[in-house]
This record gives sequence, C-alpha cells and structure tokens, in this order.
Amino acid sequence: MQTIASDSSGAPAEISDGRHSLRVVKLRLVLTLVAVAIVPLAAVAPLIRTIIDDPRVAQHERLAVQSEHVAAEIEREVKDLGLAVAGAAADPAMPAALAAKPASAKAKAATAPLTAVLRRPSGVVTATALIDARGATHAAVGAPAAFTAPKPVSAGGASYQVLAASGDQPAALEVIVAVPGAAGGPALGAVAAAVPLDMLLRWANEDLSTAGERLAIVSASDGPLAAVTIRADVGATAQPILEVTANDQSQATGSAAVDVAGMGGWQVVASAQLTVASVPLLALVTLVALLGLLIVAAAWMGRKILEPAAELEAQRVRFQDLYHSAREAALLDNLTGLGNHRAFQEAVARMVDQARRYGTHFSLVMLDIDEFKLVNDTRGHATGDELLAEVGELIRTTIRTADAGFRIGGDEFAILLAETSTPGAEVTARRILSRGLEDRGGGRYKGAISFSAGVTACPEFGKTRLELTAQADAALYRGKRHGRTIVTVFDAAKDRGHVDEGMRSELSASVSAVIQAGALTPVYQPIVHLPTGRILGYEGLVRVDATSGFANTGALFDAAEVAGRVLDLDRAALEVVLKGASAVPLDTLVSLNVSPRSFEAPEFNATVFLAILRRHGMDPNRVLLELTERDAIREPERLRTTVQTLQAAGVRVAADDVGAGNAGLRLLSQFRFDVVKIDLSLVQGGAAEDQTMSVLTSLVGLARRWGALTIAEGVETAAQLRMIRELDVDAGQGYLLGRPGAVSAARMMDLDALAERPGGQPSTTAPSLARAPVSFQIPSGGSSGPSAAVAPVPTAASVIAGHGPSVFSTR
Ligand code: GH3
Ligand code: MG
Repeated sequence: MQTIASDSSGAPAEISDGRHSLRVVKLRLVLTLVAVAIVPLAAVAPLIRTIIDDPRVAQHERLAVQSEHVAAEIEREVKDLGLAVAGAAADPAMPAALAAKPASAKAKAATAPLTAVLRRPSGVVTATALIDARGATHAAVGAPAAFTAPKPVSAGGASYQVLAASGDQPAALEVIVAVPGAAGGPALGAVAAAVPLDMLLRWANEDLSTAGERLAIVSASDGPLAAVTIRADVGATAQPILEVTANDQSQATGSAAVDVAGMGGWQVVASAQLTVASVPLLALVTLVALLGLLIVAAAWMGRKILEPAAELEAQRVRFQDLYHSAREAALLDNLTGLGNHRAFQEAVARMVDQARRYGTHFSLVMLDIDEFKLVNDTRGHATGDELLAEVGELIRTTIRTADAGFRIGGDEFAILLAETSTPGAEVTARRILSRGLEDRGGGRYKGAISFSAGVTACPEFGKTRLELTAQADAALYRGKRHGRTIVTVFDAAKDRGHVDEGMRSELSASVSAVIQAGALTPVYQPIVHLPTGRILGYEGLVRVDATSGFANTGALFDAAEVAGRVLDLDRAALEVVLKGASAVPLDTLVSLNVSPRSFEAPEFNATVFLAILRRHGMDPNRVLLELTERDAIREPERLRTTVQTLQAAGVRVAADDVGAGNAGLRLLSQFRFDVVKIDLSLVQGGAAEDQTMSVLTSLVGLARRWGALTIAEGVETAAQLRMIRELDVDAGQGYLLGRPGAVSAARMMDLDALAERPGGQPSTTAPSLARAPVSFQIPSGGSSGPSAAVAPVPTAASVIAGHGPSVFSTR
C-alpha cells in the first residue's frame, strides 16, 4: 500500500537523464581520447613503413645487381677455364702420358700443359690433373684433389661436376675435358681442373665496391654448394654451408643464374641481414616515447575532465536522495501516516494521465467522518485525533498494496484504487465502514466509527482530476444528506453540481467571457537580487476581476484546465502582462508564465511566442520564461526544442516551482535552465526542518554548478530572508520583498533592514525602497546595502544586448 504519492508501479519518479550520467560522460571521453590517439598513429604508420621498407628495397636491389655481376664473372671464368682445360686436353703429349704408367717420367710430360691451366690469371684453379678412364691420375699439379672422371668420359666440350666438401676441402667445381682417342675412338682419359667454389665466389666478387654480407652458389639439383661471407670491414671468411631460406624476413636477397651449359641450374645468391637497426630504431624509440607521453597526457586530461563531472554526479545523487526523502516527508500526513492533500492531488493527476495514455482505469473513494465535530466537542480534540489515526489505520489495513490512501482534509480521506471499477471500490469502502462500525477491541480509538463515502471511477464517470473529485464529493454529500453511514456511488442524474459535459461547456464559456471582457489585469511582483538589494526584474501575473464569477486566478486556471482552455487563457494572460510591461524599466527582466501544455499545442510554439514579444516591442533578452510541470509533460522532445529555440533567441528559461512535488526535479533533469525558481514550500519549510535545509543547500549548489541563477519564491518572513541569504540564493521573491501589484519606481531595496524586522512579519505595505542609478550591474561578492550598487555602470542597453555584465554573470 502506498502512503505517499508515487506512480502506479510504486516506484518514486526517477531522474534518469543521460545528460547527467557519469557513465555516458566517461564513455564519450574514452571515445574522444581514442579518436585523438588514432589520428597521430594513422599519420605515423605510413612513415614507419617507409622507414622500414626503404632500406629493404635498396638492399634487395643492390644484392640483385651484385649477384648478377658475380654470376656473370663466374660464367665467364668457367667458360674460359673450360677452353683452357680443352686446350690442355688437346695437347699432343696427353695420349702418350695416358699410355704411360701414372707418375712415370713419360706421364710427367703432361705437366707443362697442366701447369698452364693451374696458372690462370684468375688464380681460382687449385689443382689440375690428367686422369685415365678408370680415374687413375697420370699427372697432377697444384694441391692434391680427388678428381673423378665422368663416366664415360665423352669426347667434346667441357663438362662440370661438383666435388663435395670433405675434411678441410671445401666444395669445388671440377671442369673436365676428355682426351680423345685416335681416329674417333673412345676417349683415353681427361684433363680435370678443380676450382674451390668459395674461391670462385670471392674472386668473382672481388672488384665489387659494396660488399654483400654473404654470397652463395646454389644448384637446382644439389642445393647450396658453397657460401662465403664477405664483409667490407672484417675481410672475407669462408663458410661451408649457407642456409638460404626463401621467406626469411630478416634477410634481403638477390639472385642470378649462372648460364653455363651443364651446370645444373646454378644460381648465385647474394644475401645480407636487413639493416633495420640504426635509423628506424631511433625513430621507433622516439615514437614510442611520444605515444607514452600522449597516453599519459590523455589520462591526465581525462581525470581533469572527469573530476568535476564525478563531483557533480555525486552531488546530484546526494541531492536526489535528500530530495526524495524530503519530498516523502512533505507529502505525508503526520497524524495518520497516509499521504496528504498534495500527495493526493499529484497521485490523481498521475493516474488520470496514465488512464489517458495507456487506457488504464481506477476508482476514487472519498470519505468524511460522520459527526466528527461531536467527538471533538464531547470527548476532546486528542480523542478526535485518535479517531482520525484509527481511520487511517483502518484504510491502510484494508486496501491492497496497489491502492493508495490519503488524508486530504480535517476529517476527509481519499482512496485511489488502481484497476478497479466502481463495484470493487464500493465493496472496499463498505468493508472499511463495517470494520469501523464493529467493536474492534484493539486500536487507538475504541468506539464505533461511522463515515460516509462517495465513489467514482475514471474513465467511467470522469476524465480529469477536478471532475473526479467533484463527483466523489457530490456522491459523498448525497450520502450525508440521506442520513450518513453510507457508501454512495456517483450518479450523474442525482449528483448535481459535479463537473459534467454541461458544466464543462459552462466553464469554457466563463473562461471565454473573462478573456473577452478583458477581466484580467496585470500585476508585477519584484524579484530582488539578494547580495545587493537591486530589483532584477518583475514576474508578470494576472488577477481576475471579482465580477468574473471566479473567486481567484487559481480557480480561473483550474476551470480552464477542465474546459481545455489553458492555451487561450495563457495567451490572453501573456498579452495582458506584456501590454502592462511597458512600465517595467528597460534594464530589468520581465518574467512570464506559460504552461508547457500550451507549448504542446500545435498552434503555439517558440516562433509564435517570439512574434508576440516582437509585437509588444519586448526584447527577448529581457524575458524570463517560467515553465512549471504541475502536470506531466507529454512531449519532452518537443518542449526541449522549444526551450532551445527560445534560448537561442535570447530568452532566459526558468524551471518554476522546483521543490513542489516531482515536477520541478524532472524538469531540471531534462532541460538546461538559466534560472531555478525554488518553490515556496521549500523556502517556508526550510527554516524549520533540517532535511529541507539540506535539500535547499544541495539545490543551490547544483544550480550554481549548472550556471543557473536561483530565485527563492514565497519569501514572507525576515527569518526566511536571512536563511536564503545565508544559503547564497541569488534572488528572492515574496510578500516580504513586495506583493504583486504595480511596478514600483524604486530600483533598490534595503534587505538588511528587512532581514532585521522583528517577528519576521510579512510586509503589508511596499517594502522600504531606495533609489539608485539605472543599471543591471551587480557588484560581485558579499551582501551589501544599496550604496554598493552605485558602481561602474554599463549602459542598460549593452547589458541587455548581452555585451556587458548581466544578472547571470554575477558568479
Ligand atoms: P459531518 O457528518 O457532516 O461530516 O459532520 P462533522 O461534524 O464531521 O462535520 P465536518 O466534517 O465538517 O467537521 C470536520 C471537523 O473536523 C471540523 C474540525 O473541527 C475538525 N478537525 C479538523 N482537523 C482536525 C484535526 O486535526 N484534529 C481534530 N481532532 N479535529 C479536526
Ligand atoms: Mg465530517
């Protein structure tokens, strides 16, 4: 069961606006920082690639040239060597030497041509020998070599084979040319020359100025044959084996084929370690350092940005908690623990709204204790109070959790029953009545309790708050007339005086009459700057003539609400107030009230509002528009656009009645306001209650963080004035500072004197006023008397045009 107003789900109205969510702020910040970090990285990436790739490409090119050169040299030398060996093989001494015994004197006759081969200018031949068809050496010069004769040794050109490395002997190329037999017979033997491959490589590379790190010969059939490491700085060292891996990323290579027939697809491969180390390393270190710096700077910046946001968020959460608890307290009836009249009004309005939006339905029961005065009179007020508390208890223990009970007046109670039609509500009311009448034994009030109740339902009978309360009331009093102790369901025929269609059109006609007869007169209530006493502006209000049939302006606006004439009345009031506003000094603000409901109407919007201002010659920069949310805003997005358009045009927008129920708070969380008007309930309750004080303090702090000006409404006593001045509220409004009336000639107010007023009585006459130079200038800091305002004076026009200090730049 609800004892205070809340929405039908039972949860208090939440402030769930992403604008203030710290999480959203953090997310946006991280995204921004990431984006900021990506830009330099994206810019630097191609640079790094160029730095890394350039030497690689250059190295590849250099090595390709080198390998081609070496291959060409080898090719030439091997061909020449083939010719030289062929020359030796053709020497006439060779057949005789082959016919003789190996190493015999006759065989040694072959030494001379062999030596000619050995002494070739290239110096790459290390051994030359004459071998017979069985492989036996008949004569040899140079280092010992294990030549093998090709089988069969064919006559003709040179052939080549590889002598594998063994022991200290590196792999060598064997060049063989057959020594032909007589008259085309089989070859007698062959002349062979050995060329160690590493020597051949080194020799071929000799006149190359830029040395590659490694040179290798690779055969298509035998794989890597020999390799040398050639360093320009260290000199050359031989390496027997070289691993040539095709996709070694750390190596740059160049290769070229050795085009000699019979050399099995030899290739010269030049390779070198990629020289990525020196220059790019420095660049990389710098880059990493910069990146690190960027991250540190971003983290620092992020913290600096988040600090105030986190603080604000914490403050907001604190404020929200305080607000909710203070609100709950403000909506509670102390005697019964049920919701009070205000809570009831909010709850009905909310349920009516839900019924309209979602097609839900509910019932309203209003009950009034019978002959309660008698109890008070005969048994005393205290017993009367006990009876009231007991009724509260009866209601609380009978209704369901989805229902809500309220004490709405002296001995008047109301129950809202969600999703219940009149028969259900009638049953509930009867149950409470019979429990009241029976002897309850326990409880605070022992005697029988009798009451009369009226029941109505939405949308069955009524569709607005006023209609429903009027109907339940009418049914209740029909019951009273018919003898009391009764539950009566509303009956349109029997309950006269309630708001029905006829009544609605009657009300509409009355509202129209007021508008057309010009029965509205403007009144202006001063808004006073608390630190200086300067009058900042006037709130323009309307008063309705006593002859209009409406007791007061509130009744007129209520009637307009029921009759659906809010927009017409708002516009009429706007015209009246603006017409009279010519009396307001040019350097002061004019505060105007327009219901958000009016801005929701298709025929009214920011443009229309601005056009009305223009027609009255009112500078939008002088206008403060007060928005209140007494009823739920139906289209927040539309209202947001309106507010933004108006603000862009120079109009300042105020959240009105903040602290009165949910409304103000919800408004605050959804829009950016220039001004926060603190509801009189907070101002008047603040001095007495600690909790309300905390809410006020938080609210003022919060408004300051938002850069909004605060105005306290309903300042009626000196104590209240002292309190809001202590709280650093920017401005005040209320009977103590001036009742709504004609615009006063005074520009200043002696607040110190007002704050000292004994007894803190509301002012009945115009407050003590002093004249001061015309200016919007407000000296910053400290509260001071009127003299403080005689300060550097910018022209009013410049201030209003926003070129000089304004009321909003005092902090
Ligand atoms: P009826 O049957 O017509 O309702 O007669 P009644 O005597 O109950 O008349 P009514 O409802 O008008 O009386 C309400 C009375 O309740 C008037 C007032 O003296 C008394 N009252 C209002 N507030 C309180 C309160 O807080 N405590 C007490 N004890 N009495 C209150
Ligand atoms: Mg009564």
